[in-house]
Amino acid sequence: MTDKNNQSVAIIGGGPAGLMAADVLCAKGVSVDLYDSMPSLGRKFLMAGKSGLNLTHAEAFDAFSERFVESKSFLAPILDAFPPSAIRAWATNLGVETFVGTSGRVFPTEMKAAPLLRAWLRQLRANGLQIHVRHKWMGWDKDGGLMFDTPDGSLQVRSCITILALGGASWPKLGSDGAWVEWLCSGNVSVAPLKPANCGFEVDWSDHLRQHFQGQPLKGITMTAQGQKAGGECMVTDYGLEGGPIYVLSGILRDTLERDGSANLEIDLTPDIDEASLVQRLSRPRGKKSMATHLKRTVGLSGIKSALLYEGDDRSAFNNSVRLAGLIKALPLALRRTRPIAEAISTAGGVTWSDITESLELKSMDNVYVAGEMLDWDAPTGGYLLSACFATGKWVGEAVTQKLSFVSD
Ligand SMILES: Cc1cc2nc3c(=O)[nH]c(=O)nc-3n(C[C@H](O)[C@H](O)[C@H](O)COP(=O)(O)OP(=O)(O)OC[C@H]3O[C@@H](n4cnc5c(N)ncnc54)[C@H](O)[C@@H]3O)c2cc1C
Repeated sequence: MTDKNNQSVAIIGGGPAGLMAADVLCAKGVSVDLYDSMPSLGRKFLMAGKSGLNLTHAEAFDAFSERFVESKSFLAPILDAFPPSAIRAWATNLGVETFVGTSGRVFPTEMKAAPLLRAWLRQLRANGLQIHVRHKWMGWDKDGGLMFDTPDGSLQVRSCITILALGGASWPKLGSDGAWVEWLCSGNVSVAPLKPANCGFEVDWSDHLRQHFQGQPLKGITMTAQGQKAGGECMVTDYGLEGGPIYVLSGILRDTLERDGSANLEIDLTPDIDEASLVQRLSRPRGKKSMATHLKRTVGLSGIKSALLYEGDDRSAFNNSVRLAGLIKALPLALRRTRPIAEAISTAGGVTWSDITESLELKSMDNVYVAGEMLDWDAPTGGYLLSACFATGKWVGEAVTQKLSFVSD
């Protein structure tokens, strides 16, 4: 086993949070070694680029910080110190222009992550960042040294300060596998169980629906769960539903499933037509037309929307315009399970706020800081996830710089 006596700051995890901490420290001339288990950095960030890389959101700060629900009080000052406007300016400084989409979401003009990551890494290297890929952190040894598995065998590193930015447990093939939970728990750090967030849900579809409609988008709908509404488009899959509004409601739905063993959604298939108007239209004489044709002609329902109406057990509603209109406006759908965390966009749970200081330093381990998705917060898609990773990385970088300046004074 090699023992590398390292007096620089060690950052473990080269995703957006770890890289942003490195950004701050390297710019201040601090010597930083960054370790990552994967052969290259920022793999999840690159994956986020496949759907356009929603970097942040341009809504007013109060609304923006509300998206972090229960963690808002902890995260608001951190987000405020590196708000969406500063994230956009940071990208511009790296030569990547951004734009605000119609929904307020902010994207790079090229809708890709690779150019931004390339420019970022080039700047970090120029500022002296030492990068060690294929170094999997395995916890601490009995003397508090960092243990790594590397292609050349085990390595022990002593750092004056360690920043952990190991991500959650979704998409483990991209590097973040949640293995750190065990090592932090054994160091008496409390970690809220990691759970899927912004995830798909399983539904017992009929064979007919699965065969004919899997892979089709369900557009222009509104979903309601526990009084909360979300609109937009989601995808019908062989196992159930994923994307858009179901991600927005995923926290409530996951918690309800966990508590009650089942969770119900209501889908409004025609958000633009009110119930009274539906009743009036459905009451028009049907003549010899099939119900499918009647639905299409009177209220514009066809394809997957019409098929969903037939998923329920109660067919008698089709003979009663009032009841059918009620179903169209609030179609009940039972969800059976969340999809596994490995498939989720993000992870809820993580290092609890009670176990860290305002600087995001672990209370039970001096000089160990935590940033990014491994902290216990949750937010919907819409640029909020990356925003919080950038902001916590920046916050930790500033806190460590300040601590080092006290030490050297
Ligand atoms: C398909 C997909 C699309 C997404 N799209 C968006 C989007 O458009 N907008 C948005 O805001 N968010 C999006 N996200 C979420 C966003 O990518 C994450 O929230 C963000 O990458 C988390 O950053 P992080 O730095 O905390 O962790 P990560 O990006 O997960 O990085 C953690 C790093 O730590 C390394 N690591 C883990 N364990 C170890 C170990 N033991 N030893 C050494 N290294 C280790 C990993 O290899 C990894 O490089 C998306 C996620 C997915 C999966």
